[in-house]
Amino acid sequence: MIDDNPRPRCVICPRDLFDDEAGRYVCRICEQRISRDLTALAGPGGLYARLCLRIHPGRSGDGGAVSGTPGRSMPLNAEVLSLTAGGGIVSTLETWVEDWATYGLGTVGIGGRLQYRLDRAVATLHLNLGRACSAHPALDEFAAEVGQAIRRCEALITGERQPRKVPVQCPCGGILWVALDTPGEECRGCGTEYGPVDVKRLPIAERAAA
Ligand SMILES: [Zn+2]
Ligand SMILES: [Zn+2]
Repeated sequence: MIDDNPRPRCVICPRDLFDDEAGRYVCRICEQRISRDLTALAGPGGLYARLCLRIHPGRSGDGGAVSGTPGRSMPLNAEVLSLTAGGGIVSTLETWVEDWATYGLGTVGIGGRLQYRLDRAVATLHLNLGRACSAHPALDEFAAEVGQAIRRCEALITGERQPRKVPVQCPCGGILWVALDTPGEECRGCGTEYGPVDVKRLPIAERAAA
């Protein structure tokens, strides 16, 4: 038999897996990022709860959200609603819980208020993430969807358009999306942290930009 097995790589970033990561689909750096993203979504101070406040800005104790002028139109509400309603982020996460459950990674919960359902879905995914890294081949899709939910929430909460970003390439092959006013970026591939000046010295990633 010819050994045509190349060194296994993380399915999310281009990094080769270390020996002690054998049997995993995902490297530990990517696992930590997914874990951070999940944590950021859940709980009373999480992105989901804060996004829900955008619909009823005057109702909560969150002083920062009350500053809207009466009668001011809120064009963001339609998108906020689509993310926070039953078919939004909660469904996305619950669909993944159902999917993971078929791999023996957690159990599906039933019913409850949206915030409760979101927190429970996040808790289940978080609890099983470590095992999923070795047991679930589509973790890249999962990570992408969670990451996208985070970015949409953040953009809506701050009420700003995402600044234009340019893809640059780390020597490890990883792509970093860099905004003009970046405070610095961490490469998802190798974990290298670049300062705001150094990151702009990296070459533009032509393929990703096209
Ligand atoms: Zn990785
Ligand atoms: Zn890198």
